[in-house]
Parts: sequence; C-alpha cells; structure tokens
Amino acid sequence: PKFLHFNSPLNLPFIPRLKPINSVKLSLNPQTMQKPLSKTLETLTKLKPFLQTNHRSILLGWLCSSVSVFSLSQIIPKIGSFSSNLTNNVSVSKLRDQGLVLGFLVLVKLVARYWQQAFLWEAALRTVYQMRVFVFQKVLERELGFFEGGNGVSSGDIAYRITAEASDVADTVFALLNVSNRVLLKTIVPSSLQLFAMATQMLVISPSLSLISAMVVPCMAFVIAYLGERLRKISKRAHLSIATLAAYLNEVLPAILFVKANSGELSEHARFRKLAFEDLSQCLAKKKMKALIPVIVQIIYFGVLCILCIGSLVVSCGSFDGCSIVSFVTSLILLVEPIQGVGKAYNDLKQGEPAIERIFDLTKLKSEVIEKPDAIDLDLVKGEVKFCDVSFKYVDNMPLVLDGLNLSIRPGETVALVGPSGGGKTTLVKLLLRLYEPSTGSILVDNHNIKNIRLESLRRHVGLVSQDIILFSGTVAENIGYRDLMTYIDMERVERAAQIANADEFVRKLPEGYRSLIGPRGSLLSGGQKQRLAIARALYQNSSILVLDEATSALDSRSELLVRQAVERLMENHTVLVIAHRLETILMADRIFLLQDGKLQELARSTFLAGHHDSLMSTGVVI
Ligand code: ADP
Ligand code: MG
Repeated sequence: PKFLHFNSPLNLPFIPRLKPINSVKLSLNPQTMQKPLSKTLETLTKLKPFLQTNHRSILLGWLCSSVSVFSLSQIIPKIGSFSSNLTNNVSVSKLRDQGLVLGFLVLVKLVARYWQQAFLWEAALRTVYQMRVFVFQKVLERELGFFEGGNGVSSGDIAYRITAEASDVADTVFALLNVSNRVLLKTIVPSSLQLFAMATQMLVISPSLSLISAMVVPCMAFVIAYLGERLRKISKRAHLSIATLAAYLNEVLPAILFVKANSGELSEHARFRKLAFEDLSQCLAKKKMKALIPVIVQIIYFGVLCILCIGSLVVSCGSFDGCSIVSFVTSLILLVEPIQGVGKAYNDLKQGEPAIERIFDLTKLKSEVIEKPDAIDLDLVKGEVKFCDVSFKYVDNMPLVLDGLNLSIRPGETVALVGPSGGGKTTLVKLLLRLYEPSTGSILVDNHNIKNIRLESLRRHVGLVSQDIILFSGTVAENIGYRDLMTYIDMERVERAAQIANADEFVRKLPEGYRSLIGPRGSLLSGGQKQRLAIARALYQNSSILVLDEATSALDSRSELLVRQAVERLMENHTVLVIAHRLETILMADRIFLLQDGKLQELARSTFLAGHHDSLMSTGVVI
C-alpha cells in the first residue's frame, strides 16, 4: 500500500540477502598496521591485575601442562622400542616392565592434562568473575548521562557486555593460557636448539639460500599481524550486531503489553529478523575470516618452499645434492612451526580483543560528579535549600534547560513547582540530588554547597519520589526498605511509612502481606499501588527534604486525597518540594513557582483561585 514508508519494517516479507560485507576484503592500510601491537599490549595490561591475582592457578596449570608435554615426549620413543621389542625375542619380564612404565606415563599424561585444563579454566573464569565485578561497580558509579543521554549506552548493550561478552573473554584467556606454555614447550624451545644446528648447516651449504629462508619469518609475522587486525575488526562488528540485538530485546520485551495492544507482533518480528540477520552476516564474516587465516598462512608457507626448491635447482644447478635440499626444507619447517603456534595465540587474542575493549569501555569514568576526598557528612539537616544562579543544559550545543535560576526554600517550607511539561522541573530535581552538575551557579543544602557533601549523605537527606516509578522484583518490604537492604529493614518503620502513604490497606490484602512478591518492576501491582509504594519508600528514608515529582499523577481521586493528607502531615517537619499539576496539591504549598523557559517566577495564590486559572490550564500547568 502507498501509505507504507519504503523502509518500513512492515514491508514484509523481509527476504534476507547476503550483503557484500561478507566477502572478506583485504586491503593494506599502513595506518591500521601500526596500531595492532600497541593496542594488543594495552588490552593485555587491562587484564593484568586480574590475571595476577590468579597466578597460583596459572602456574599450577602450566606445571601440569609441562608434565603432560614431557610425558608425551617420553611416551612416543618408548612405544617405538616397546613394539620393536615385541617382534625381537625379548624376555617377558622386560616387556612387562616396559609396559608398566608406558602405562604409568600414559596415566600421568592423562591426569596432568585434566588438571591443566581444570587449573587454567579456574584461572580464566576467576579472572572474568573479578573483571565483571570490577566493571559493574564502575558502571554503577558512572554519570547518569552515560545511561540516559543522547548518546547513552542502552541497558541491553551494557547487560550484553557484562554477561555474554565477558564469557567470550574467559574463552580467550583460557585459549591464551593454554596455548602459550604448550607453544613454548613443544615448539620454540626444542626447535630453537635444532634451529641453531640447522642454521649453521644451512649457512655452510648456501649462504644466499639461507638468507631467502630467513625471509620467511618476517613475511609470515607480517601476514599474521595483518590478518589478526582484520579479525579484530570483524569480531568487533559481530559483537556490535549481537549487542544491538540484545538491546532491542531488552527494550521490546518489557513493552510487550504495548506491542500487543497495538498489534505490533508482526512489525516487531520483522525488526527482530532484520537485526538477527545482520548478526548472521557479521558472525559469518568472522567465521570466514577465522577459517581464511590458516589457509593464507599455509599458502605463503608452501609458496616460499616452492620458490626455495625451484630457486635452489635453478640457481645452483649441480652444486647441491638431494640431501642438502632436504635439510634446507626440514630446517624451514622447523622455523615456521613456532611462528604458526605464536600466530594462533595472537589470533585468539585478536578475536577476543573487541570483547575486552568493549567491557573496559564501560569503566571510562567521565563523570563530572565526583565526590571530593574531603567531602563532609551531614548528620542532621534542617532542610534549607538554595539554588543560586543555576544554569544547566544537557548537551553543549542545545539551549539552556535552566537559565540563571534562583530559589530559596526555608526549612520546613512546602514549595510547589508548576510548569509546562518539558520545562525542566525534573531536571531541577536531578541537580538537587547531584545526578548532574550545574553548568554555572551552585546549590546549597543548609548553606553547604552540595559539591562539598558526600553523595551518600546528600542523597540520604533528600528523599525522592520520582516521576517514573521504579520498583524491583522482591517483596513489598524490601521495596519500601530499599535503603536498608544491605543491613536491616525495620518492619515497624516500613508499616508506618506504608500507612502514611496509604499503602498499608492494599498491602495487607496481598497474599503474604509485606512479604508478598511484586513481580519484575512491580508488574503485579496497579499504577496507583506502585506509586503509593514509591511514596512509602521515600518516607521510610525519613529525609528532612522530600521531593515529590508528580508523585500523585497515577492516583485516583480518593487515594490522591489520602496521600495529600499524608503530605500535609509530612509538611509539618519536612521541607517539601512538590511538583504537581493538580490544583488541590498546588494549593497546599506555602509558595508556588512557575518554571517556564528555564526561568522561575513566583505565582500568587490568587492566580490559582481567580480567573487566571483557565490560562494556566491552557498551558498545561494545571489540570
Ligand atoms: P519536566 O520534568 O519539566 O517535564 P524535564 O526536566 O524532564 O522536564 O526536561 C526538560 C528538558 O530537558 C526537556 O526539553 C527534555 O527534552 C530535556 N531532557 C531531559 N532529560 C534529558 C537528557 N537526559 N538528555 C538530554 N535532554 C534531556
Ligand atoms: Mg518531569
């Protein structure tokens, strides 16, 4: 139909076609070639502290790995002599002894291999556990803008990084720990000894051919480094695509009611398919690249061998015998094996690098809200609040949300804040809680600049009932006593708070009263019930300053009346900042302010009583 936008997800059926991004493009870019090594080192340094704490498991794992490699090196020649002894007439007792030794060695190898895996997995998983715990702590400390700003990271993306991508890091760490020791023991150490002998021999046979052979090493190292960098980039895209998918699911599943109510199943399915297909393409590209690397390395390897063989035949025809050529090729193979081993480890690391990068990106603290080391704790707060010339904007090139705002609230006073939606009322509250820092000006609580108060202390003294009600899955009591979740929830205080917030009545009707579970995000409760729990939670905290950000918007008239009476009772010993649209709530306040276009203006009570009321209604200030 004409009215459908061309790119609309409703343009079904969505027929996936492989995009050109799948073909692995190889292009030499000198700029990207300089970075890989320093970047890889940077990535490894991030993991270093976590690996260090697990050094015991790593060393034990490596020890077992050495035992396993060593016993294997003993088993192979012993099998040879054992089988030749079987055919030669050797005494049974000698055969039995040999068999026992062989059996013992095999057992040692198997046990050592098991413990090698067990220790190294323990090290890798513990490393990731510690990294996760560290990263989540940093995420919790991050500035609010990181989560809700214009370029904020979606919660689904963050969740994906801390869960699935961290598991990828475990795989990478394990692969690296596992391969490093084996490469060293199996190839580098023995072959470097042999290489020395070979190199001398090669030099004696033909110095010029030795030089050509030596070229293989840098050539392969270069190719491995280059392909590793490509793999890192492709891996990163694959991570991004699946993170987008996770973020999408995180957004749409909690909104399932809305989706169903709007018959959005079809379009959501199409959106999902599109994102899932994008992920398919990216993951396929990654797998292809992984498969391509050994192929290219092998091709180069054999190419060089061919050139060498032909070259030696053509250049020095007659001066070589067959034996010299064979020695040459053998030494070359020995030379290349360790490089391949190192190359594999390097590529494992490269593939895991994006996950490590993306996880540690979460810890890049850019917060301007930083607690000073000498910040003070406020024990008792009278509840005086002052905004002095406060200006604020969220984004640099956007207009000011608050423009030179001045407001002074006396202890115990109730101030109502009204204004059109989008006027900056919630922003003002965020500044008071120091979730954002004002661009200019200062905010004082009891004449202390809030910059000098410990964040925990400030936020304990300012109780907030936010506009968006936030409840967690758990019991009613846990939600009301959220602030004491780590210590001890005082049930008496919970009940008292619930009574004041007019929640006690419905809570008691729940199957298990205050111990009833309320479902994810409080989904088992109605909007008004949720709001009353949120109010009870703010009351439980017993702060001197209480902020109600449109806290009564979801209440029915009867509940609203009861909550208003509760607020009235609170007003006696609290400083209350109430953001409201209801006339009755507004009129309870001692003073009323209008926040419009970033400016604050005091309104006389008569404005609300007289005919001006209509004009306020028409601007959305009052309902
Ligand atoms: P109110 O609570 O008065 O309805 P807000 O304080 O929520 O208004 O918002 C004031 C203005 O700031 C709005 O124009 C809104 O678009 C903008 N805004 C709110 N939050 C953000 C944010 N995190 N990033 C950027 N702009 C924001
Ligand atoms: Mg608001």
